[in-house]
Amino acid sequence: PASADFTTDVLVIGASQSGLAVGYYLRRAGLVYALLDDQGQPGGAWPHGWDSLRLFSPADASSLPGWLMPRPADNGFPARDAVVDYLTQYEQRYELPVHRPVRVEAVRRSGKGFAVQTDGGTWQTGAVVCATGSWRNPFVPTYPGQADFGGVQLHSAHYYDATPFAGQRVLVVGGGNSGAQLLAEVSQVARTTWVTEKEPRFLPDDVDGRVLFTQATQRYHAGQETAPPPTLGDVVMVDSVKEARRRGVLSSVRPFVRFTRTGVVWADGREEAVDAVLWCTGFRPALAFLAALGVLQPDGRVATTGTQATALPGLWLVGYGSWTGFASATLIGVGRSARATVDEIKLFLVYNKSA
Ligand code: FAD
Repeated sequence: PASADFTTDVLVIGASQSGLAVGYYLRRAGLVYALLDDQGQPGGAWPHGWDSLRLFSPADASSLPGWLMPRPADNGFPARDAVVDYLTQYEQRYELPVHRPVRVEAVRRSGKGFAVQTDGGTWQTGAVVCATGSWRNPFVPTYPGQADFGGVQLHSAHYYDATPFAGQRVLVVGGGNSGAQLLAEVSQVARTTWVTEKEPRFLPDDVDGRVLFTQATQRYHAGQETAPPPTLGDVVMVDSVKEARRRGVLSSVRPFVRFTRTGVVWADGREEAVDAVLWCTGFRPALAFLAALGVLQPDGRVATTGTQATALPGLWLVGYGSWTGFASATLIGVGRSARATVDEIKLFLVYNKSA
């Protein structure tokens, strides 16, 4: 239907950890709100993580506001499916009004609020919170000849396990955690080369996500949250990466310069045949539906003050990374951004109604 079918005070787009954390505080605030998510199941990006994916932190350091993530039976770091279970139960526990699958196509100004156009009708709302993460917008760098390359190209967003790569010659591109972990896994069944912009920086073996979060929190409390993090490293030494180091496969080379139909050409001119390229090159915010509002920057972000769009009162962005709040793209960190956001929304709605 083209007309306004539904009306809320606040509409949250995305119902994974970031949207649920916002929902938790909206519920406490007693506002009329709904969450829209385009997936058929709870958990946002998490069900699409690779089969062996585990959190970097123990359950109690990976929890949303109000309810701790249950500790796994093996006391280890929670696996992908444990996170999905937690988010599924969280949504039920707090009776969060999630509508799915509903895809948001465009957000426009409408009166004092917004009209949110979806594939299931249009919502009229006083405020909008974007919590769409980045999984829906994988980033792949461009190289000359890429379109003619006859091999497989797969982004880590769509990787589940190493089986399709058995016996192949595979380039794993990207020096972050995804690159290191998928290199560790694929190198067990394939001939791999790890391609990174610069030499990867490995964290000390005993530094996990909890340690990183604690350090970041100390900086935050010291009022230095915008300062660059200490140069400890990027790659967390999870068990699979340590094991890859023992096997001697954790070395890397600098990028190739172009593709051929059957492989790549390296900077020294050497050609090499390649069956597949696994892009572990990150993501960009999934915010294309904001295009009509004129707030999207060339890098796909929105200028924010805290979590509110600087140029457009009534629009908030939660969970995208440090530009939307300290540690906001983590399970444990998003609660703080969510709470501050809902506090602002409450004031905004009162003021906007009376203005
Ligand atoms: P998402 O989980 O991506 O959810 C956004 C939801 O919005 C999705 O359901 C999406 O489909 C939906 N959506 C998008 N566009 C639209 C639209 N137009 N209309 C309707 N719905 C839409 N964090 C940790 O704290 N600990 C970890 O150990 C950890 N490990 C990670 C490992 C990997 C490999 C990755 C990629 C990330 C990891 N993170 C970790 C970071 C972060 O917690 C996750 O990326 C998390 O999924 C982000 O949650 P989110 O709610 O912001 O977004």
